[in-house]
Order: sequence, then structure tokens, then C-alpha cells
Amino acid sequence: MDDDALFKRLAAASDPSALPAESAPANLKDKIQASLLARQADDSVFETLAAAMSAESAPPSLTSRIYSALVARQAESGPLLGLPAVKAGGRELCVFEELVRIAPVGEKKQAFNYCHICHARVIAERMDFAPIYWPGCPYAAFQRR
Ligand SMILES: [Zn+2]
Repeated sequence: MDDDALFKRLAAASDPSALPAESAPANLKDKIQASLLARQADDSVFETLAAAMSAESAPPSLTSRIYSALVARQAESGPLLGLPAVKAGGRELCVFEELVRIAPVGEKKQAFNYCHICHARVIAERMDFAPIYWPGCPYAAFQRR
């Protein structure tokens, strides 16, 4: 017998169409569900471990960048709340915001994010112990630990 004939016979013998069809085990769905539930039980170990760890707060520079991004995003969707309304709502205004609030400027200028152009934002977004102490400035507040 030549090599080709031998391989043809082997190939014919291993033809999967000649094999009887196998069906999935009847309880396959139950086994998969049990496996998933077992994995879910494993997650409780990680939840217990995470609960035992003390939660650290984010670094001030990260908090500052997130705050800047959120306020910028909010300003994209429409005017920010005016400074008089912010103060009336109970938030202490940054010293520069307070100057604008008492200045004779229009409503549009009262709804601008002045802390965005303040040097406090610039250094607070880059330093975790930035030397900024403006009362009422959120960027100064983020520096307090
Ligand atoms: Zn400020």
C-alpha cells in the first residue's frame, strides 16, 4: 500500500460524520448555573477583604482635576448657577467669586466659573500639598487632609 492510500484510509476512519452524534448532558444548564453561583460566592471573599481595608481618599490633585472636569462638563450643557444663588444655597464663595458677586456685573458674568482661571486650580491640579489657602475656594478645600 502506498502512503497516499494509507492516509486516505486513516482519514476515512477518522471522519467525524461517521461518528454517532453526541448530545449535551441533560443537566448541562444546571451545572453552568451551579458554577456561576459558586463563583458569585467566591466574590464574597473579596468583598470581605475590601471591607476590612481602610478606604483612602483620592489625592487632592486628582480630586481637583475631577472637579475641574465636572464643572467644565456642566458648563457645556448650559450656564452655571449664578454666584448670588450659589451663596444663597449655602456654599461659601471663593474670595474671587465673592468679589465678582458684589461687583456691578451682569447675570452672565455672575455665572462664570472664576476658579477655573485662578492660579489655585493650576497648582491644585498638579500638587497634593499645594500652598493655597483662599477661603471658600474648592481647590483649597481639596488640599485639606
Ligand atoms: Zn477659587
